[in-house]
Amino acid sequence: MRIGDKDRLEKSPPMGIPGNQANVKSTLDNGTIVGSSPGSASFFTGGSPGKDGAIERVILTTYPTQSGIRPVPLNWGASSSEERGPVLASRSQTGPINNLKERNAMGAYGGSYSVYHALAVGSGALQATHRPDFTDTEPPVNIGPYPQWSESDMKIVSMDPWGHIPQTVFKDYLDRGYDLRPTIAVTKAHMRLPELAEGTLKQDGVIVLSEDGEINVTKAAVEPVWWLPGIASRFGIDETKLRRALFEDTGGMYPELITRPDMKVFLPPIGGLTIYVFGPMEYLADPTKKLTVRVHDECNGSDVFGSDICTCRPYLIYGIQRCVETAQKGGVGLIVYFRKEGRALGEVTKFLVYNARKRQAGGDRASTYFQHTENVAGVKDMRFQSLMPDVLHWLGVQKIDEMISMSNMKYDAIVGAGIPILERVPIPDEMVPPDSQVEMVAKVASGYFTQGHVPTEAELNAVKGRTWDDIAH
Ligand SMILES: [Zn+2]
Repeated sequence: MRIGDKDRLEKSPPMGIPGNQANVKSTLDNGTIVGSSPGSASFFTGGSPGKDGAIERVILTTYPTQSGIRPVPLNWGASSSEERGPVLASRSQTGPINNLKERNAMGAYGGSYSVYHALAVGSGALQATHRPDFTDTEPPVNIGPYPQWSESDMKIVSMDPWGHIPQTVFKDYLDRGYDLRPTIAVTKAHMRLPELAEGTLKQDGVIVLSEDGEINVTKAAVEPVWWLPGIASRFGIDETKLRRALFEDTGGMYPELITRPDMKVFLPPIGGLTIYVFGPMEYLADPTKKLTVRVHDECNGSDVFGSDICTCRPYLIYGIQRCVETAQKGGVGLIVYFRKEGRALGEVTKFLVYNARKRQAGGDRASTYFQHTENVAGVKDMRFQSLMPDVLHWLGVQKIDEMISMSNMKYDAIVGAGIPILERVPIPDEMVPPDSQVEMVAKVASGYFTQGHVPTEAELNAVKGRTWDDIAH
């Protein structure tokens, strides 16, 4: 948008951000200081003149009362796509639609990759005017709509249940020039895992395609789309407090969290999840079919690189094996893989905790396992499983026959969301790597599911991990 653009947004007083009323000034390359008048939420930026040499004006934020602001209606939880409306997060002002004025969601498409998108545009590798060609990108299988998408208790608040098919259900918006993108993609694939290649699985020609364990799978990638009133409600806090924390604790990310209380949907720049389905997708919603589920939170060091300090990869592989076996018996298996590395504390925190565990006086032991995470991060866990069951509701799941998990937090969240779990399946002892006994015993003592003995304090002290003595540094 250029100075003098007749379509430019009118200035209106900011609401609720102390300090935002001051003149915002910026020094241009030529040394001229320009600034907007008090009360404006925009400023003229140096260094990026437009084609005609005019200085481009950056819109810092918008306000509901501002002239021209007319968000496309978005009725979260509505039973039809027409009534619900599309999730529009683009700020693009090029083309036939001024998305900045009509969008109804804060944040950006792409989850954590939205930042790379910005780099691509900033560096000139990608034209900001590019619009995706969605030809043939639709899901190969049908998912929903299910009653859970629109029940009055808002079972889905952290993803867009229509996010896999906007190409179809919101085609008229795309045709009219709205910059609208799917937040879910569904596809089919074959997969092979070395642990399951040695005749562990029986070839059946449908689920397991070859003797060496080639598995047929349908998978879906899901980016987070948060309906803020529902997110706040899950955490038992009010929406204003949630918005303020999201704004302030992320370096002032997305001022509209504060200035646009009328916009209720936010696409956070965080990782999402992937689901892997073994057997027919529609069986997930059919309570007459047996369902095996593992909900797995990312642990890159183990899942991909085979670190032996925890049970993550072995448990994931065992979950996949059980899912395939259930599908082969006429049921369906589901793996949900969340990008919540290191209990959503991240890998840097995780590695710091590993160091503290290994260096402590007396060595790494189960009795102090959780304390080290708390010392570094302030909490034991930031995964907030209360949002996790949303994906199960999206898939129409009504009950889980076998849950391949020992986590009490996951169990409580799923059962609390109204999905009964009929059986919990621990990891077989022979799959637990020696150095991960510390984690396993500590978790069982803290309330994780076990069919065996819950260790005493003395036993916790006795379970020790590997020291660093055998590692050359
Ligand atoms: Zn792990």
